[in-house]
Amino acid sequence: MSTEIKKEVNCPACGAKAEARMWSGVNAEVNPNLRLRVLDESFFDWRCPQCGAQAVLAYPCLYHDKGRRFMIYILPGNPDPEKAAGVAAQFPQLRGVRKRVTGSLTSTKEKVLLFEDGLDDRAAELVKLLLATVLTRALGKTVGPGFYCSSDEAKDRIGFSFFVEGEEEPVRKMTTFSAYRSAQSIVSQLLPPDGEDFLLVDESFARRLLARYRGEEPEPEAAEKAEQPAAEQPAAENSAAQDSAAEEAEGRSAPREAPAAEPDESTQPPEDTAAPGETAQEGES
Ligand SMILES: [Zn+2]
Repeated sequence: MSTEIKKEVNCPACGAKAEARMWSGVNAEVNPNLRLRVLDESFFDWRCPQCGAQAVLAYPCLYHDKGRRFMIYILPGNPDPEKAAGVAAQFPQLRGVRKRVTGSLTSTKEKVLLFEDGLDDRAAELVKLLLATVLTRALGKTVGPGFYCSSDEAKDRIGFSFFVEGEEEPVRKMTTFSAYRSAQSIVSQLLPPDGEDFLLVDESFARRLLARYRGEEPEPEAAEKAEQPAAEQPAAENSAAQDSAAEEAEGRSAPREAPAAEPDESTQPPEDTAAPGETAQEGES
């Protein structure tokens, strides 16, 4: 069962008090309609029953797919794994279930697509980082956030889209499953088995992992979150494929400041969480 809560909100357009339906928990199998609303990123959309104005009402929500054994704690604007630690402790039966925290619907959607396609998002983030490097070199432009699109193992293709400086349409970039499997092998060498704690698996996660793999000091922005010193990680006994994968990232000087807003969220306010009872965020009508 999904958990529905009703809260009173103030319409940002007409000021009317109205009731908003929210889901603090989504069971993707029982409520496929809610799954679709996550996938089309309309999950937090709210419409005022008085004046019809649309707004985005973002709040924490736990998305659970029991069959595929994954769980995503959506914490809009503040994906802090610490906040989810209590959930993991409360339900020991969730051990072995893949657990993530995300800060937006866009990244939640990406996780859902990856997990439903049977892929490991930790490896996918590594692949994405390497593809972004290649793209940055090829285009000579700043490459912004990238997102997993689709994969076809029979055709040996995994596709990602990247938002590139000065380009309106995202740039599609394909790679092979062998690139993904190399990344997967780095993941299994360096990381504990998945399914214990909630993880924030994003670009910085991939950067820290790559730095550990290469035996480097974590980058300054990553240092504060790094769990272990990079020096503990052996970098010697890796296959040639992984070495070349890592070398591809050699010399990468990617932009430190990725655009703060994720694509497709330009219509949303800067990821503030509207606490129950507070004024709904004004969205595009
Ligand atoms: Zn209204």
